[in-house]
Amino acid sequence: MAEIPYKIYLEETEMPTAWYNMRADMKVKPAPLLNPGTGKPMTAEELGGVFCEELVKQELDNDNRWVEIPQEIRDFYRMYRPSPLVRAYCLEKKLDTPAKIYYKFEGNNTSGSHKLNSAIAQAYYAKKQGLKGVTTETGAGQWGTALSMACAYLELDCKVYMVKVSYEQKPFRREVMRTYGAEVTPSPSMTTQVGRKILEEFPGTTGSLGCAISEAVEAATSQPGYRYVLGSVLNQVLLHQSVIGLETKAALDKYGVHPDIIIGCAGGGSNLGGLIAPFMGEKLRGEADYRIVAVEPASCPSFTRGVFAYDFCDTGMICPLAKMYTLGSGFIPAPNHAGGLRFHGMSGILSQLYHDGFMEAVSVPQTKVFEAAEAFARVEGILPAPESAHAIRAAMDEAMKCRETGEAKTIVFGLTGTGYFDMVAYEKYHDGKMDDYIPTDEDLKKALEKLPKVAEA
Ligand SMILES: *Cc1c(COP(=O)(O)O)cnc(C)c1O
Repeated sequence: MAEIPYKIYLEETEMPTAWYNMRADMKVKPAPLLNPGTGKPMTAEELGGVFCEELVKQELDNDNRWVEIPQEIRDFYRMYRPSPLVRAYCLEKKLDTPAKIYYKFEGNNTSGSHKLNSAIAQAYYAKKQGLKGVTTETGAGQWGTALSMACAYLELDCKVYMVKVSYEQKPFRREVMRTYGAEVTPSPSMTTQVGRKILEEFPGTTGSLGCAISEAVEAATSQPGYRYVLGSVLNQVLLHQSVIGLETKAALDKYGVHPDIIIGCAGGGSNLGGLIAPFMGEKLRGEADYRIVAVEPASCPSFTRGVFAYDFCDTGMICPLAKMYTLGSGFIPAPNHAGGLRFHGMSGILSQLYHDGFMEAVSVPQTKVFEAAEAFARVEGILPAPESAHAIRAAMDEAMKCRETGEAKTIVFGLTGTGYFDMVAYEKYHDGKMDDYIPTDEDLKKALEKLPKVAEA
């Protein structure tokens, strides 16, 4: 077998031509979205009021294993994909571990993260439907940036509700979005009914993803020619992100490498769901086995301390109900610096898989995450996003376990993005001003008490 290069690239001809839909191989399918008014599963027609038609089809498709990637999207992917799969030789040496570590790096595009993979798909279907534009929310700003880029490319209008704390802390992110033509509003805002209501109830709030989602949905449904798009959590987003896992698997297969452990950070679950997709498919079909690990912040521990129940995806309680691991839609996490991981819920697909024992989850405190981020940057060169560094932390911990046991396990993790816009967080870490607030059981109980009551079929 040829020696494994530092970076394994794929030829353009080896790139995926179809997305892989994990749901087709799940014996227990993720629970359907429910209409919060009637408690009945959302129909395609109801969903069509909020989302583009083709995306509704993808959202509800539990059966087709492969969905062809339209040629226009494949052409766009070719501008920044395939993303490299890197053998972390330098990190292995630094950790003095027999483990073999690989990471799939999704930060090589201007938006700086994997989110562009789904942004271009969602913008494409909106354009194809003849819409004027799309609305969305953004937390740390990665999704808003990705969507702005996709909309600029396709000449679509893009309205972004940005969580206020990020809007203020990350002016550069905001300007990147405006460079790509997006209209950016800090959330909660006075521009929507739900924003005004949240501001009345919680004056001075710095916002949350849940609030911003409520505003973006209202903005989409209250003006003609607009639909709402979401950067994570939804089945369709995991479908688009499967391109990450398909490329990873193709690259590993080229060198006959079988991973033992696959690790990813989990906010709403889209990068992790995408990275693990083809591997999970094999696991579900009984063809191979892998340990799959979700890593979440200790300040927002949906998997490890949440409950598996129907809940709202947004704070304003206007979105459909999703069955997922949740901390309660009223849960507003401490201002952790991994903005992309501050969501109270989790993908329904990953929630079902976790519930059924197909994957594990761990939570890590943020100072430990930044310690890993810095160690990684110093040996591998890439300055990681705080979100991505959660996966680095867990991968390093696994590699150090191998040092103890002498096992040469193969670890693959998702390096979802770069952290250039997160230097305020790095500054806090360097100055010793970063804390590790972990919610108490009492904090969690308060938000969970307000879960909607749903009689499941
Ligand atoms: C948004 C984001 C995440 C978390 O979102 P998922 O949907 O869980 O993948 C992780 N890393 C980066 C860099 C992000 O921008």
